[in-house]
Amino acid sequence: MDMALTSAQKKDFSDRGFSRRNFGRIATLIAAGSTLPFYSEYVLAQRGRTGALQAGAVKIDSNENPLGPCPEAAEAIRDIVKDGGRYMFDSPSEFQALMAGVEGLSPNYVQAYAGSSMPLHWSVLAFTSPARAFVSADPTFEAGEGAARFVGAKTVRVPLAKDHAHDVKAMLAAGDKAGLFYVCNPNNPTGTLTSRADLEYLLANKPAGSVVLLDEAYIHFSDARGALDLVAADKDLIVLRTFSKIYGMAGLRAGAALARPDLLARIRSFGNTWMPITSIAGAMASLRASTLVAERRKISKDTREDVFGFFDKHQFKYIPSVANFFMVDVGRPGREIADALRRDNVIVGRSWSSHPNHIRVTVGTPEEMTKFKAAFLKAMA
Ligand code: PLP
Repeated sequence: MDMALTSAQKKDFSDRGFSRRNFGRIATLIAAGSTLPFYSEYVLAQRGRTGALQAGAVKIDSNENPLGPCPEAAEAIRDIVKDGGRYMFDSPSEFQALMAGVEGLSPNYVQAYAGSSMPLHWSVLAFTSPARAFVSADPTFEAGEGAARFVGAKTVRVPLAKDHAHDVKAMLAAGDKAGLFYVCNPNNPTGTLTSRADLEYLLANKPAGSVVLLDEAYIHFSDARGALDLVAADKDLIVLRTFSKIYGMAGLRAGAALARPDLLARIRSFGNTWMPITSIAGAMASLRASTLVAERRKISKDTREDVFGFFDKHQFKYIPSVANFFMVDVGRPGREIADALRRDNVIVGRSWSSHPNHIRVTVGTPEEMTKFKAAFLKAMA
């Protein structure tokens, strides 16, 4: 079962306290790549759902961007299709160089991946073990904890602070044997931010040998500046970025891990994902579209605030998100309202065990949110 691990990896895992019993699962995780069933937003969003979606369904369950790729990306993708018979080995490095330039990093600080899910899992493999815990917030995106549990690493969940930021002091107190601190900023599912000062505090006070994995999947929807300058400053920090969200390329698969070259090398030792030339072309065109992020941020914010105005008017409680999704308190098990909405062909996201009476809803188009509001009023009546 552990045939897929090299002898160097087996030595590394046993040095970190994994027993041989864990090796088979680690090998499975590496070999199965992105197809493992419980590690992506797409799969998590489908859990508990049966049957195909009906025509015209309002699909606001997976934090996708209803706008899809921008016109420049769509055109670049169409243009590159004729070259699809070639491997084009150089194109990932061209993408890495472009992204590095846009973000003020050296090209060797950027590693391209087909989305950010796999570097998330591989970071967990690289930096956690039965002796070095995976420390995350509660609630947060579950994929990293799923990977840690699957391979037998210790996991610790620390409730968010009252303002829904990561409680970095409590995370540090819980994690003197931490290998990896997972911080999602803005956090999925609350859509809330953790401050720059807290991130810096975490980096300055974490135990030696640990890393911070900062998942910035939704950073562009907020006004926060992101933390890539801390990567440039050579901190023990890995930042994940994806093109699945603001750039609307979830199905096309493009993303990157950004970190010091030695940290990227540790992640890379577990594998890599081949970015198709279509997604490279789309991602590069998106990066070059200089007004895109600001335009889409505004569209998403305006639609979100309109829904928050509706909630205020009807006195529904919600968590004030700055991302393209939010949690609304439905005052009863979230599943009941999600099922009622589904009967009206409105498909919303899941609930978290820390917030069983909240459902997570993605910000769709204004037309979709009008349908959501009507169905929500009916379901809550
Ligand atoms: N991180 C977070 C917080 C997410 O919500 C998602 C997807 O929804 C991902 C990472 C992974 O996205 P992808 O693999 O599409 O890049």
